[in-house]
Amino acid sequence: MTIRVAIAGARGRMGQEAVHTIMKNPDMELVSVLDYKNIWKTLEDTNLFPPSYGAPIFTDLGELHEKTKPDVLVDLTSPESVYEHTKKALELRIRPVVGTTGFTDEELEELKAFAEKAEIGCIIAPNFAVGAVLMMKFAEQAAKYLPDVEIIEMHHDQKLDAPSGTALKTANLISSVRPSHIQGHPKEKETIQGARGADYEGMRIHSVRLPGLVAHQQVLLGGEGQLLTIRHDSFNRGSFMSGVVLSVKTVMNLKELVYGLEHIID
Ligand code: NAP
Repeated sequence: MTIRVAIAGARGRMGQEAVHTIMKNPDMELVSVLDYKNIWKTLEDTNLFPPSYGAPIFTDLGELHEKTKPDVLVDLTSPESVYEHTKKALELRIRPVVGTTGFTDEELEELKAFAEKAEIGCIIAPNFAVGAVLMMKFAEQAAKYLPDVEIIEMHHDQKLDAPSGTALKTANLISSVRPSHIQGHPKEKETIQGARGADYEGMRIHSVRLPGLVAHQQVLLGGEGQLLTIRHDSFNRGSFMSGVVLSVKTVMNLKELVYGLEHIID
């Protein structure tokens, strides 16, 4: 069965890559696109894609659903719109596959409860790169033995949220094995505000934003006389696409919300 896919955010950096990936995949069909600008009729009109890319563009998810009946909505938009898109998609029984970051814990809980009650699949993946998911798993394992942890995440300077969804997810996984405790000197004082980074149960998260970067993270685990560094680099957005394909296929067989690719790779 061909999976009918709609994409929100198709003009963006991730979205464009996802459009090409879905178009090339023999098991999937790109049936429509969700945008918030009412300027283009089809993807081809945006001049970002070849003429054969004729998927129609809608500004209303209800109309998109009625006219093109997608099985899955891939969302690669912005933190401002992603919650509404995901909620509405679930209400319409379109399975969301979400790469956009910036959900609050409350929003995630609400969407999880909704998906479970409605018995509909949803995957929210702060990082679609398989290597990054392994980095998180290894960091969680290592923190059992080296519980003093700092995370340095580095992204391109157009990123809207900080810290990154991946850094938050990493801290969240580590916190499941690491008792919350203050790190550094108990009397340490910041002479410039923010110098020690964000505080996640005592773990520090530092966000670097520079042109030229894509998505990079180091987890530093320090112990007496030793330092373990676990590092992952995404050098281009192609690194995320195998995770997108895996998620689109997997979400078809789910009846609940899964947060994080680590729950769907063995
Ligand atoms: P981007 O280049 O800014 O693309 C976002 C696109 O979404 C833009 O074309 C934007 O249009 C469009 N958009 C904004 N609001 C919209 C709405 N309401 N409906 C439809 N389209 C809308 O950003 P990006 O680098 O592709 O990243 C997109 C998201 O994915 C970010 O949240 C980023 O953190 C996340 N991300 C996730 C992963 C992962 O592995 N999960 C990897 C990389 C990035 P305008 O520019 O016209 O506003």
